[in-house]
Amino acid sequence: MANLGIPQNTIEVLQKYNFNFQKKFGQNFLIDTHVLDKIIASADVNKEDCVLEIGPGIGTMTQYLAENARKVIAVEIDKALIPILGDTLKEYDNVRVINEDILKVDIAALAKEENDGKPIKVVANLPYYITTPIIMGLFESHVPIHSITVMVQKEVADRMQVGPGTKDYGALSLAVQYYAKPEIVANVPPNCFMPRPNVGSAVIRLTKHQQPPVVVKDEKLMFRLIRASFNQRRKTLVNGLNNSPELNFSKEEITATLEKMGLSQTIRGEALDLQQFGQLSDLLWELHNK
Ligand code: SAM
Repeated sequence: MANLGIPQNTIEVLQKYNFNFQKKFGQNFLIDTHVLDKIIASADVNKEDCVLEIGPGIGTMTQYLAENARKVIAVEIDKALIPILGDTLKEYDNVRVINEDILKVDIAALAKEENDGKPIKVVANLPYYITTPIIMGLFESHVPIHSITVMVQKEVADRMQVGPGTKDYGALSLAVQYYAKPEIVANVPPNCFMPRPNVGSAVIRLTKHQQPPVVVKDEKLMFRLIRASFNQRRKTLVNGLNNSPELNFSKEEITATLEKMGLSQTIRGEALDLQQFGQLSDLLWELHNK
């Protein structure tokens, strides 16, 4: 089968099947062999790997993955793409295509079945409308994962990578960095896709930590604190936490805790790093669990 990273080959397949792009599924297919090579190299895919691909489209990256991995599981929501994938992937016996919504798939069960429960690699050109639920779902459901190498909107890649003191810093930065080490490995312009998206894109690799960089008594509490701090970004941390319906700490408890940490009473959540959120979480936890 011809390399679909070459635009003419993608056009031929689309015409043969009279395929109509579905905007609601975030369909922007890759048509650049350099970008495809870069993704495969950054994900470090090799013959021992079981790879999960989210949204294979017409199978462009799936072909590259099938050449390099032991097994590829490709989950595609659009049923119109399934016969096309049957055609474009017919030369490979190591690809399993599943016609499902990735947010409804039991990925841990799949990893167990296809990889003995050992860590899988996730590689994808993601549908941008569900980037955050996909990534947070992968981390929070404790699926065994080695790394996630994905194309996302450039702005979202930046948010995942930055630390305190920048406008992009937020709950997503902290959540991603709690679970993984993020590295942007390529910036990708709109002309590498068909049709062209109206935003810039970037490939980011998230390498899962063996141990989280902070160990806290109650992970859920720390994430509630993080969410509450950034939900009301313009408020002080004291007010943000005190106003949150997810939390029940008094103003006095919060101010006393900030004082213990040597932080100003007027500090905003966006000034705290992951270590400080961890410390805040443990101190507040102790107040209610002694
Ligand atoms: N991998 C292909 C490529 O690089 O050319 C296609 C990438 S395209 C950006 C995103 C793909 O994800 C589309 O094929 C789309 O139909 C699929 N998709 C969208 N929502 C999905 C979902 N909830 N579950 C699984 N696949 C989904």
